[in-house]
Amino acid sequence: MLDFQQLQNIINGKALQVVQPLPVVHLLTDSRKLSQPAGSVFFAINGKYNDGHKYLPQLYAQGVRQFAVEQGEAATLAQQFPEANILQVPDSLEALQQLAAWHRAQFQVPVIGITGSNGKTIVKEWLSQLLSPDELVVKSPRSYNSQLGVPLSVWQLQPNHTLGIFEAGISQPGEMENLQRIIQPTIGIFTTIGSAHDEGFVSTKQKVDEKLKLFTAVELLFYCADYELLHAAVQAQGIKSFTWSHNRKEADLYINATNVAGHKTIVVYTYQGQKQRLAIPFTDEASIENALHCLAVLLYRRVPLSEIQGRLDRLHPVAMRLEMKEAINGCYLIDDTYNNDLAGLSIALDLQASQPQRGQHTLILSDVLESGLPEAELYLKVAELVQAHKVQRVVGIGSTISKYSHLFSKAEFYTSTADFLQAFDPADFRNEVILVKGARVFEFEKIVQAFQQKVHGTVLEVNLDALVHNLNYYRSKLKPGTKLMVMVKAFAYGSGSSEIANLLQFHRVDYLAVAYVDEGVALRENGITLPIMVMNPSPDSFVKLRQYNLEPEIYSLEQLQAFVSVLEPEARYKIHLKLDTGMHRLGFEKENFEALFELLAQHPQVQVVSAFSHLAGADEVVHNDFSQQQIASFTSMATALEERLKYKIIKHILNSAGIVRFPAHQLDMVRLGIGLYGVEATGAEQEALRPVSTLKTTVSQVKSIKQGETVGYSRRGIASTDRTTATIAIGYADGYDRRFSNGVGHVLLHGQRCPLIGNVCMDMCMVDVTGLNVKAGDTAIVFGPQLTLVELAKSIGTIPYELLTNVSMRVKRVFYAE
Ligand SMILES: *Cc1c(COP(=O)(O)O)cnc(C)c1O
Repeated sequence: MLDFQQLQNIINGKALQVVQPLPVVHLLTDSRKLSQPAGSVFFAINGKYNDGHKYLPQLYAQGVRQFAVEQGEAATLAQQFPEANILQVPDSLEALQQLAAWHRAQFQVPVIGITGSNGKTIVKEWLSQLLSPDELVVKSPRSYNSQLGVPLSVWQLQPNHTLGIFEAGISQPGEMENLQRIIQPTIGIFTTIGSAHDEGFVSTKQKVDEKLKLFTAVELLFYCADYELLHAAVQAQGIKSFTWSHNRKEADLYINATNVAGHKTIVVYTYQGQKQRLAIPFTDEASIENALHCLAVLLYRRVPLSEIQGRLDRLHPVAMRLEMKEAINGCYLIDDTYNNDLAGLSIALDLQASQPQRGQHTLILSDVLESGLPEAELYLKVAELVQAHKVQRVVGIGSTISKYSHLFSKAEFYTSTADFLQAFDPADFRNEVILVKGARVFEFEKIVQAFQQKVHGTVLEVNLDALVHNLNYYRSKLKPGTKLMVMVKAFAYGSGSSEIANLLQFHRVDYLAVAYVDEGVALRENGITLPIMVMNPSPDSFVKLRQYNLEPEIYSLEQLQAFVSVLEPEARYKIHLKLDTGMHRLGFEKENFEALFELLAQHPQVQVVSAFSHLAGADEVVHNDFSQQQIASFTSMATALEERLKYKIIKHILNSAGIVRFPAHQLDMVRLGIGLYGVEATGAEQEALRPVSTLKTTVSQVKSIKQGETVGYSRRGIASTDRTTATIAIGYADGYDRRFSNGVGHVLLHGQRCPLIGNVCMDMCMVDVTGLNVKAGDTAIVFGPQLTLVELAKSIGTIPYELLTNVSMRVKRVFYAE
């Protein structure tokens, strides 16, 4: 096993302090993911949004004793971390990559490297499934394909593995050479090449050339020769290849035809002069293409034809996401059917560990398949992971995991999913965060169903990855040291307050803000410990404020008087002063200042943490002068305040639009709202954000309407010709605005826009689906990435804020990560 002394040579580091010989087992780059301090080396990476060096003391306190750092004085570090081994490196990410490249070079096994614009993860998952009868496969967990993800993936390679499959993704020139050095693929697969070039590239040609750098040393590259640009580039570079094609008969694998038949696609192909046919259990184009890449590899590897069909039959869609949702008895369910290997288990356990303290953490786990480890070793590792993540209760399902029951404390075991369901009593599960993770064959979706609350067909899906993307986008605009307050008022703009707040806490924002005390209390009860400002606390809630450590916004003398009248003698209180600079909603004006100071002077136990104001027109250019004026008067008022108080206060005025439009006036803090949820209020940088929420519902019934008949209340929907309508399960009681009635609004069904016909009812509405093959049970998208809030809001003369916050509480929220 590698130890710290060797590490020093491999990554070209300078030893600042070596205290003890320690094994290098786990590579840690995210302090929040620490689970096994012994054997972990923390690489302090100075990233775009955060600096790993900040977390050294915390990790040291948690028992980590090996660090690779870029910064810091040897003497200071030694004093701070007397028992730690410390290496200094010029660049921690590079050091991590060097280590992974060294690790890879220790193994002679074949390694498949996959890149391309789409399909990387699916081809990787499928290939590993298709080849696992013959090989012990190690693969990238999820879509770990970045400069950071690739080294962590390759680090998993162990002597017992016989094949590695790793994916590589890049966003700008220069990155692929790094990934090539780490993966050192012997076989390549280039999945697809999108026609548009990504942001970081000047042309598609440049992008292709860059991606091909993964394959400079492969023995063979698999690709589809129908991508002309790719084909030309591979030929020009003389890379030895295995091609497949729908058009070129000279390709190694020629696809004569693909015909959809029911739920399958029949593929007729010619390989080595032989015409054959096979069925693929998918019908969409992307899946067919991904399956054909896999077929090419199977044929090349001489997997017998009789075998190939059987293996293809067992392919299943790769669940690309992990969902979190409310379940029975106050439980919270994390549903991860993505895959069932050790790395996937570890990632899912990390996510569970980051959930707020809603009672105990429970894991329902099937036999772990495709691990490549001997059973005894495997379940020892599983038990270690479970313990490291502080899972209190384990339900093991399957005959193998049951054999190792002695490794788990507080655990129960069942030999099959059916056995578990037979014994299942909902009352046994209360206020728990339950991670459900099972191999496909165990059909854990049945367990998920048993735990789910009954819901009607409408859900608001919240994409947590998109939310983090947006958070980081705004963060990247902040000067170092500028604090970030995130507005989670109104149930986090309709998206779900505790889940979002929890994610924000995980990503270390500085402050949260809510409108009312009850909202703050709910956050505290869900384990949120960040400072929380309450913008509109009523006097009767002042006691609760203190009880839950919430900080009030104070906007008037009357309110301050009421507040100081309930102070307890020994306690200290934090408040935020709102100044009115032109919004004329809430806030102190200059004239109130003398009285304000007097009152504050009489109550020194009250500390003014911050002073702020709100821009009335930051989203519109026409109000730029007015906004500037507001900023100027705020700065002068807040400075006067600070001088009189004789201590520093946090000054802040910018909302989401302000952050984009007035970057010079971030002051000490900014307040991010709608931007986090994917709407760029000025419109100028909308492209940089990712849409966060999708509102979905289902079709209840499909009807044929004869010419002249009418649809819905007041007979407002008149069929001008024979029509087909679909009744969908959303109405104004769900927050679907009645102004969308009669053709103003659309929903997406099968990707097509279908206009509303007739008036929106309380719980339903009808849409025109003439010419589409719509059936009861189909999913309709009310808003989402393809039908944007901005567009919909405009069509009924309102703003995206209103549409988002109108989604009623009876609509279930489902959170997912990709
Ligand atoms: C809601 C709110 C914000 C955030 O506004 P966005 O336009 O959503 O960015 C900022 N400050 C105050 C005082 C608010 O009430």
